Amino acid sequence: MNKNKLKTIAALLLLFSFVLTAFTQSRKEISIPDIKGFKTLKCDFHMHTVFSDGAVWPDIRIDEAWLEGLDAIAITDHLEYQPKDDVKGDHNRSYDLAVSKAKQSGVLLVKGTEITKSMPPGHFNALFITDANPLNLADHRKSLRIAREQGAFVMWNHPGWKSQAPDSAIWYDEHEYLHNEGLFQGMEVYNYDESYGPKVYGWAKDKNLAIMASSDIHRLVSHKYDLNKSHRPMTLIFSKDRSLEGIKEALFARRTAAYFNDTIVGQKNHLQSILNQSLRYKAKAELRKDKTIVLQIFNHSDIDYELTLEEKSKDFNIPHHIILYAHKTSLIQITGLSDRINNIEKIYLPYTVRNLIVAGGDNMLAKIEVLIIH
Ligand SMILES: [Zn+2]
Ligand SMILES: [Zn+2]
Repeated sequence: MNKNKLKTIAALLLLFSFVLTAFTQSRKEISIPDIKGFKTLKCDFHMHTVFSDGAVWPDIRIDEAWLEGLDAIAITDHLEYQPKDDVKGDHNRSYDLAVSKAKQSGVLLVKGTEITKSMPPGHFNALFITDANPLNLADHRKSLRIAREQGAFVMWNHPGWKSQAPDSAIWYDEHEYLHNEGLFQGMEVYNYDESYGPKVYGWAKDKNLAIMASSDIHRLVSHKYDLNKSHRPMTLIFSKDRSLEGIKEALFARRTAAYFNDTIVGQKNHLQSILNQSLRYKAKAELRKDKTIVLQIFNHSDIDYELTLEEKSKDFNIPHHIILYAHKTSLIQITGLSDRINNIEKIYLPYTVRNLIVAGGDNMLAKIEVLIIH
């Protein structure tokens, strides 16, 4: 072989290796800030694979979660349905096939299953189980008791699913019984593309249930949600650390919120903390001679906060409606400040936030604090 040929082959090999290394998988990062004392983990605890009525192999769920920026998922195949003619294995098989990929990628994988009964009581996911097989019983009370013996956290899935609750979600006597027995601790307020509204948010508060949202995805996540503009529904977990133990502790402690579309439903203190941590003041709030203050607020979260004035102040005028757009700086003018402000160091801007909803069903009343520089 002559020198020129060798050179050409070497150049081609170099180009080939470049092409191979130039393609890099990139993960989206979801920007919802940590809250005081806790990390905010983005989790989806409800999805299916070919081991029940889903259409993907279990480790694909890990790839999807990694690409979308999730911290943790649970694969929750139905106990009551397995396409036995096409796939072998028991009810732990989907977890077993995904767990090594989860470890490689850093996505935390919770072992789970879906207990699938007609309404009442409907469907429940048991999370943090040790063995799914003994839960496969006709009697849901027995299944849930075994889940509890395994130390599982149990959530009531899609309480207002149109197929099972055509008019609206109903809290049946059976739910009262299961709840009193401590057999479930959480509830979806949003599933796939269904929102269950204030009635269910009220139960979350009155019954002290962890507030959750999930994709319940059966096919590919990217076929259902436009991931360039949006995201799948997810449960936010306010955890002491990024670990499975941390998630489990936070679930039982009800430190959760539901994040779907551009809305978060959660406990008031968690939502207030998310809002506070999302906003940075780009400039000092100086009281000008013309009795105005100009604020520049940078929202570094993924959420467009939509604010509506709750009550007018006697001491200043502020806009009636503001949108603090995600990853942008908004300019807010406070005008007509009264002389009383001369002796005050901070004021609160009383806005309700359309897309932050507290557990009972009301919009969150945000108190945006402004420190005045005189
Ligand atoms: Zn279900
Ligand atoms: Zn499901």
